[in-house]
Amino acid sequence: MNLFVVAEEFDNRVAVTPDIAKKFVDLGHEMFIEAGAGAKAGFPDTEYERVGATISNCSDELKFSDVIFSVNFPKTKVEKQVKPGAILITSQGADLTLCKKKNLTVFSLDRMPRTTRAQYMDVLSSQASLAGYKAVIESAHILNRALPLMMTTAGTIPAAKVLVIGAGVAGLQAIATAKRLGAIVSAFDVRTSAKEQVESLGAKFIEVASSEKMDGVYAKETSDNYKKAQEQRLREVLPSQDIVITTAQIPGKKAPIIIKEDMLPIMKTGAVIVDLATKTGGNCEATKPGKTIEKDGVKILGVINILDIIPYDASRLFAKNVFAFFELLSSKMKEQPDLAKIEDDIIKATLVC
Ligand code: NAD
Repeated sequence: MNLFVVAEEFDNRVAVTPDIAKKFVDLGHEMFIEAGAGAKAGFPDTEYERVGATISNCSDELKFSDVIFSVNFPKTKVEKQVKPGAILITSQGADLTLCKKKNLTVFSLDRMPRTTRAQYMDVLSSQASLAGYKAVIESAHILNRALPLMMTTAGTIPAAKVLVIGAGVAGLQAIATAKRLGAIVSAFDVRTSAKEQVESLGAKFIEVASSEKMDGVYAKETSDNYKKAQEQRLREVLPSQDIVITTAQIPGKKAPIIIKEDMLPIMKTGAVIVDLATKTGGNCEATKPGKTIEKDGVKILGVINILDIIPYDASRLFAKNVFAFFELLSSKMKEQPDLAKIEDDIIKATLVC
């Protein structure tokens, strides 16, 4: 098959890295890479050429490619160049009306089921994990003090305090990173099952005084009573924190507002909040999407795509997820060439068009 990797317009990542391009070439596929597609992530065209891929200026090769890989939906290319009937493997933002019009088969990897079998293909997890890590590194960089306890001849510096709100994939990686940097870490989550995971990383789980218990893998919206109890607990904890990383999400809904504007004055001057939920509305009321602001002495980072500043590893993990998915898809297509009829929970969940 002819495979094509597009250059992202507004993202520094690339869907296929040279090591993964080699795997496709070794399988006997023709691999085309749009010129400069990997450059922003640290993978020059020469690295793709070295493994047997062809660098393309996009105009012709894209028109006869059978499978197209992208991180974000490549709208203009789909409109103008992608051939009708092609397969598109992407991770978000597919314009389904346009895809239907072009008779494309589209897999959106952000729909991956959160199951053990799907883990190797789970782009949400691989990317969230790096986001959690980078959020801590960014906040440590901006913070006006050190993170670990330091005993020097000039005196002792106490360890900084980091609070993580939402202990899903990103939150747990943020906890692990902050712990490694020597901070005193605590975390909140609405799901009771998160407690054990937080504690296993050596962080303190902050309990909310509420009889409401949320079990299961995914969070739901909390009741007003729970919100009040959580807010009260947060007001007790926030004044001592140096860094707050917010990652709370409710699948399919706007992110819950957890840090209200009137909580900022009770925080330390110089404290840093990194709002990883910015894209879905933010967990901090004062967050400005895409901007770093300072309000009541607190710096708030409204990060929309933190992966843009760690594109090398984000692309490496993404590409591995893509390859694992392609292998599964290829093996299923051998048994059942009609994609819509493939009986597989991963294929069914990700097939959006
Ligand atoms: P997510 O991005 O949807 O949400 C992040 C966290 O925010 C969640 O832990 C959620 O409980 C929490 N949250 C929501 N509202 C909150 C509030 N008001 N206050 C505090 N916290 C709040 O989560 P995710 O990272 O996608 O993970 C969701 C679940 O899926 C987790 O249980 C995770 O362990 C699980 N998971 C399983 C697999 C797998 O088995 N393959 C892979 C990935 C994730």
